[in-house]
Amino acid sequence: MKILIFNDSPSTVSQLAIILNGAGYLNLSAATTLDETLHALSLAAKAEAPIDLVLLDLDIAETDGIAAILSIKSHTEFQDIPIIAITQDDSSTNLDRAFAAGASDYIVKPLGKTELRARVRSALQLRREMIKRMMRERELERLARKLERMSNQDGLTGLANRRCFDDTLVCEWVRNGRNDQSLGLLMIDIDHFKQYNDALGHVNGDGCLYSVAEALKKSVRRPGDLVARYGGEEFAIILPNTDYNGAKAVADNIHENLAKIGLGHPDSTVAACVTVSIGVASGIPTCDTSPEHLLQAADSALYQAKDSGRNRTEVMNLPDPDTLQQ
Ligand code: GH3
Ligand code: MG
Ligand code: MG
Repeated sequence: MKILIFNDSPSTVSQLAIILNGAGYLNLSAATTLDETLHALSLAAKAEAPIDLVLLDLDIAETDGIAAILSIKSHTEFQDIPIIAITQDDSSTNLDRAFAAGASDYIVKPLGKTELRARVRSALQLRREMIKRMMRERELERLARKLERMSNQDGLTGLANRRCFDDTLVCEWVRNGRNDQSLGLLMIDIDHFKQYNDALGHVNGDGCLYSVAEALKKSVRRPGDLVARYGGEEFAIILPNTDYNGAKAVADNIHENLAKIGLGHPDSTVAACVTVSIGVASGIPTCDTSPEHLLQAADSALYQAKDSGRNRTEVMNLPDPDTLQQ
């Protein structure tokens, strides 16, 4: 571990070095001014090999020792580095000020070998435990972020999953209603996917789901649009602030992009390649309607698209609140 000695007396520095070297602490450096100290701390931090302990002489002629501690601790990146204050003045006022400024321990001169080694050992021990704790915390944060991502993501396609879709639909419903904007919703279902699986096997079926997901992602443009796997071979897209025409344009993009990819479907009665049927619904959310109404409308439109021959889009508006109240 790295120890920095801040002391303007070469003889004290070499005395400290001899005692510390004798106890196996070999990674020592020294600074004679506050500027040099801050520079050394900063260089070590940049090299990602930070100083682990500062031995700071409170009685340096040129510098106010307490101000030096305050100055070091005012840098966020040095706040966790322990400082042991070394002083001749063991009055409680002096020591109180040193602790208040941020020193974690003190040693009174003349320096005793046993005491110095013991205090350095326990400061470094604490530092080691703190570093371990910080690393554990970082790892936990990383895992929490990963879990959060996974709990909202579909494993096969990488799209938002059903849970994320449900949450987003409610949020966007409220937000678009508040702003008096149209919310668009697309329900997309692969045509004759059972036959695709039967003809080419489930592994290819999974590959097909992945490719369709990619085509869907390419078909939306705004950052707020959400493409989700709704379940099985069904997908859904939420389009905030999008009216009938905008939602229909996205559906057209999807048919076009899928045709461009041209994934062969050996057993479809609709086309030689994989196609989808799309139900589009859009409308301005109101107090009398709910996200379920939008879902039902998109679902009915999808049913119509299937019924009228597949590989097409049908559109349905959000039901009129007056109709719903009847
Ligand atoms: P339609 O045109 O009416 O939608 O017919 P379809 O065959 O696509 O619809 P159906 O509901 O009869 O079949 C859906 C198929 O999707 C059946 C199921 O095995 C398959 N499927 C659902 N989830 C997955 C999956 O994760 N991987 C694979 N490979 N297949 C899946
Ligand atoms: Mg289906
Ligand atoms: Mg299907």
